[in-house]
Amino acid sequence: MKGISHALIGSALATAACRQLGLDAGPAVVAVSVLGGLLPDIDEEHSLINKYVPLHCKKAVYAAIASVLIYHAISKGQPALLVPAGISALIFFSGHRGFTHSIAAVMAFSMPLVGSEALFTAFLASYLLHLLCDMVNTKGLQLLWPLPHRFRLPIGFSGRSIPGMLIEGIAVLLSTLLAVRMLH
Ligand SMILES: [Zn+2]
Repeated sequence: MKGISHALIGSALATAACRQLGLDAGPAVVAVSVLGGLLPDIDEEHSLINKYVPLHCKKAVYAAIASVLIYHAISKGQPALLVPAGISALIFFSGHRGFTHSIAAVMAFSMPLVGSEALFTAFLASYLLHLLCDMVNTKGLQLLWPLPHRFRLPIGFSGRSIPGMLIEGIAVLLSTLLAVRMLH
């Protein structure tokens, strides 16, 4: 599924869900839900979220970030930096639909938002919707990373096949219509 489809489905449904739950559904919630829809594909060189990383080898940036954070954690005595360093290293080492498409990553990335119910809900919903949409792909995803088993739904399509593109278009359309209905 294309990044723009993940962003549209995630932001439409997560924002509508926040509104239904009586939570704030303002611009910050929309922005966070777009991020939640795009972030899982940070493990893919040509994904929409990596498009603005200003280097040819995008994933090398995450290795560099991990190295800098580890250096600061050790030299400045700030062990808390080892958490983001570890996440950056996992993004670098992970294959597509590996760590960032797992329950472990959902928990790691949503943890900083736990102080805001609306932002946490929107991000979590959008991230989980991304994983659900990817489970329609025949390649599946490592939901229980680091376990190697890849999960997918019984109806699997290649993202580039005609049925796959058709399902993607229908999912975007239905999400948008449902969100419009829920927001009014
Ligand atoms: Zn994905």
